[in-house]
Amino acid sequence: MGGDESTEYTFVCPECGESLDVNASMRDALLDRGCVICGASVSPSAFA
Ligand SMILES: [Zn+2]
Repeated sequence: MGGDESTEYTFVCPECGESLDVNASMRDALLDRGCVICGASVSPSAFA
């Protein structure tokens, strides 16, 4: 139900363990700028 197309990936921070459902543009932003919670650098392997 819902049909929310905005959550295409699940991000799990390797540093703080925060998990977020993100879309492609948010994924790119996280890869570029790091975790929004703790600021750790993020690799593509943090996304499922
Ligand atoms: Zn983090």
